Amino acid sequence: MRAAGPWLLTKGVARMDATMTRTHVLTRGGRLGSGGGVGGFLRTRHPSPFAQVRATRSLAVTALYGSVAALTVVLASTACVDPQQKKIEPRPRAGDRRPATAPHRGPGRMKAIDAPPSYARYDVSMPRHERVGTSVKGRPIETVTFGNGHDCVFILATIHGDEDAGTPLVERLRDYLRSRPDLSRGRRIVLMPLANPDGMAEQTRGNSNGIDLNRNYPAGNFRASSRNGDAALSEPESRAIYDVIERCHPRRIVSIHQPLRSGVECIDHDGPAESLAEAMSLHADIPVRKLGSRPGSLGSYAGVTLGIPIITLELPREVKGWDGRRLWDAFGNMLLAAVTYPEPLTALAGE
Ligand SMILES: [Zn+2]
Repeated sequence: MRAAGPWLLTKGVARMDATMTRTHVLTRGGRLGSGGGVGGFLRTRHPSPFAQVRATRSLAVTALYGSVAALTVVLASTACVDPQQKKIEPRPRAGDRRPATAPHRGPGRMKAIDAPPSYARYDVSMPRHERVGTSVKGRPIETVTFGNGHDCVFILATIHGDEDAGTPLVERLRDYLRSRPDLSRGRRIVLMPLANPDGMAEQTRGNSNGIDLNRNYPAGNFRASSRNGDAALSEPESRAIYDVIERCHPRRIVSIHQPLRSGVECIDHDGPAESLAEAMSLHADIPVRKLGSRPGSLGSYAGVTLGIPIITLELPREVKGWDGRRLWDAFGNMLLAAVTYPEPLTALAGE
């Protein structure tokens, strides 16, 4: 508050100059007194001694009145927060939480330090659920996020509605991460267990408009068609994924599919993702295979256009219908290897 005192006084006088005539006189008189002397000022304006005494009394009363007014304004200015005023508060430290009794701060009291919101005051080990979009038929598209670090990994499943084994697998990963907050330290792990809820409900590849969401991205090779969409990002489901990438700037992405036929499961990759694919393949009997970039696919957009390492994981066709536990036993470590990359999963031995 030592630094704030003079500022508030200056602010109070400046405000009075603009709005209060009586205090305006005091302010001008004070400036003259410090320069040419009050006596000289009075002699110039009031030549007779009687008039000088009267003027002195008048000015003294004015000064007293003005001082009280100034003090009132100064006190008031400490109570009413000017919207332009920047009140410095100590930065929140990791682990700090806002007390439950803290008053709600309205927009007029928002301070620069509040934006963008800092998750440091929250317990980052707790997953954060968020609705990031809505399908054509109104179903929610949701993410759950662990951690607040710079190393962001985005894992999504079932962008093709009838390739849905990834959904219980990612839900299982979510449950596992709840019990392992150490894995989200320094990381931000964003999970989207179900990217195409209408397609999954109807067991169709595309969404309810019949659009293949994995051909609906603004990659350089996007081709408009009745199957790919009239324009890139024409569908709410593809926009939800796009928005997550825009906000989180992931350093790696894993999109989980199943191939159309048996025996062609693979870890496909786009962008600088070959070593990530190799790291994942150490933990499952699925080969690394480069299939090439499909027009307007998420792999083309994220990997080629944005340069983000992205894995298109084609789980075996046969695992469709497996429960989460069985899927986790078979493929959990492969996903964890993507989470911890470039740290090898062996550094977390014991799991
Ligand atoms: Zn697919």
